[in-house]
Amino acid sequence: MDRRHVLKGGMAGALTLWASPLLQAGQRTNDGVRQLTNTISILDGGGSNIAAFSSADGIVLVDTGAPNNGDRVMAALKGLGGNPNVHTVFNTHHHLAQTGNNEAFAAAGAKIVAHDRTRQWLSVDHWLPDQDRYQKARPKAAWPTDVFFNTGTRTIGGEQIDYGYLLVAHTAGDIYVYFKDSNVLAVGDVASPLNDPELDWITGAWIGGRVSAMDRLLKIGNDQTRVVPGTGPVMTWAEFKAERDLMEVVRLRLFKQIRQGDGPQDMVDGGVLKGLARTWKDPYKFLYAAARGLWGNHNKLDPDVV
Ligand SMILES: [Zn+2]
Repeated sequence: MDRRHVLKGGMAGALTLWASPLLQAGQRTNDGVRQLTNTISILDGGGSNIAAFSSADGIVLVDTGAPNNGDRVMAALKGLGGNPNVHTVFNTHHHLAQTGNNEAFAAAGAKIVAHDRTRQWLSVDHWLPDQDRYQKARPKAAWPTDVFFNTGTRTIGGEQIDYGYLLVAHTAGDIYVYFKDSNVLAVGDVASPLNDPELDWITGAWIGGRVSAMDRLLKIGNDQTRVVPGTGPVMTWAEFKAERDLMEVVRLRLFKQIRQGDGPQDMVDGGVLKGLARTWKDPYKFLYAAARGLWGNHNKLDPDVV
């Protein structure tokens, strides 16, 4: 962040914050706020990350956390300084852990920006196969107000914010949000440094889409970019690239297995996730979703498919 840029914006609140010990980058306060840059903090949305950009024009959020965390998140936002009104919310995808408090922020006047597929999944009852239950459509107040299909850019509080679609990487409607001046890239659950990578296959997500999306993200940032995942610690560029490379190894192994007609248990038994630089908490669950996604994309599995 360019200091002159902020001064020009007349961010009295931000200047006050700079004088505060809370502003030490990387420091975590006892209300679960991690200060990432002078203007961007990571809040605990009830197990998932919320990125909050503070400016004279108000706050920009990436995701709103899990249900029933709205009051706590709003209280933490007040502690950030600057203009405490939430100007704009981006939803990286439709899952409850990312959209759980949309209603509260919409009621407070925020616009909600998301991919049109995210709006669709929020607005209809749908089956959650891994939980064996239906998810009711969310109330209209939780739906995105500004939808897009490919990419967009906005300038809020002097920051250029670019956003775009990550085709079937984790759900049907994943997006990245890139705070360009701050060089912080929020990617939702398309990066997963802590939890097992998740492929929401019933919405169309699959491992080929995930690797392609990670390749697209690698063209957006640079060596200094910090990556905010949906859950877990903020990643360096090298860490994000390492996760992409690992997922590519998994993709190649899975393509081989699926072409042999293997199902998820065959893949577990065949040790398809063995010898990698990460372990899975629930390998079968990941491989089941991966296999479902692979069958849905069988016409894209390498040219030697018969
Ligand atoms: Zn998710």
